[in-house]
Amino acid sequence: MRRVAIFGATGSIGRNTVDLLQRQGGREAYHVTALTGGRNIALLAEQARALGADLAVTADPANYGALKEALAGTSVEVAAGPEALVEAAERPCDWAMSAIVGAAGLLPGFRTLAQGGTLALANKESLVTAGPLLLAEAARHGATILPVDSEHSAVFQALCGEDWAAVERVIITASGGPFRGWNRAQLALATPEQAVAHPNWSMGQRISVDSASLFNKALELIETREFFGIEPERIEVLVHPQSIVHALVGFADGGLLAHLGPADMRHAIGYALNWPERKPTPVARLDLARIGALTFEAPDEASFPALRLARDVMRERGLAGAAFNAAKEVALDHFLARGIGFLDMAAVVEETLARLARECHLGTATLSLEAVLDMDALARLRAGEVVAERQRRG
Ligand code: NDP
Repeated sequence: MRRVAIFGATGSIGRNTVDLLQRQGGREAYHVTALTGGRNIALLAEQARALGADLAVTADPANYGALKEALAGTSVEVAAGPEALVEAAERPCDWAMSAIVGAAGLLPGFRTLAQGGTLALANKESLVTAGPLLLAEAARHGATILPVDSEHSAVFQALCGEDWAAVERVIITASGGPFRGWNRAQLALATPEQAVAHPNWSMGQRISVDSASLFNKALELIETREFFGIEPERIEVLVHPQSIVHALVGFADGGLLAHLGPADMRHAIGYALNWPERKPTPVARLDLARIGALTFEAPDEASFPALRLARDVMRERGLAGAAFNAAKEVALDHFLARGIGFLDMAAVVEETLARLARECHLGTATLSLEAVLDMDALARLRAGEVVAERQRRG
């Protein structure tokens, strides 16, 4: 029986993964070695019972008692804390979903690679902060990493059977989010409630705000660069408000292969779960005649500077991705807490990167997990200082 684990089972990606496992036979078809969550103890316990998981882990030690109680009378083992997440990742497993949000997802996903199985990678921060390390670790253990982000899954699918040497460019699409067409004066007043209201996708709160600011697309640019090893100049972003075409690959003969699908993450998750086979997934079938028009436009990089910042990071590489992501996470926390405005997020990230570049060499070639985690901590500190200064200045 195939052994599977889900890191971040209670989140948007995690719940969709559980849904697919259930539809594909659930506990009769899969041996679930571990499910992890954070604060949503009731859901984690419910998932662990339904799938007959060996282990349920909450990332927060304060929730240990509640999880233990919720799983009383079952054979599910219970653990808590970041170390327990890593221990869960070190258990033998054939397929693991990495769907913890933020840099916290890096270590558990990284550790699963030592099993030599498949890592379905939704946690985009892993590739952004430590892409070369992750790929090298996978190669060292004969493990497979499959992209779950819809754009990268689309590129992966468009590339199947193609000659890499003939690839000219990769185009990833962005819906443009809820603020497409807004000017800077309007964006300055945007609220967290407006930012989470994504027009097409139903996602976690943090990625929804990142979509509104185009930081999500910025992370995806870096992911594309790291996962597919393609130079930054050959990766483009196209705004496509219908979110039907997820990515296109352009070849030397001028042809483009596009991947189309509904805005439902169960397609990309199901693809990664069943790869190299394709199995039925419960996503809506596209009615292109009803949709009628698919439109495309260039992103407004003046109003949304995240893409420009990502291009700087892609040129720099090394620890720049870890610094970028950590600064972005801090800025996002402060925006959600109404401590800074929507436009301040990009300003905080840019200022933090500038300070760190004066303080240390971000593009260092000697990348290690320790260096990435140290940079993550340092960038959070500096970003916090930048936020505090901006707040003092009013
Ligand atoms: P959610 O916020 O919905 O879920 C995050 C999951 O991580 C939950 O299980 C949460 O637990 C858990 N979690 C939160 N903080 C921590 C922590 N510090 N340590 C361990 N676990 C934690 O996120 P999404 O499902 O939307 O996104 C997950 C990842 O996938 C992100 O990296 C995102 O960028 C990426 N992604 C998401 C897509 C989407 O459509 N949602 C699309 C493509 C990529 P709990 O809820 O119990 O507190």
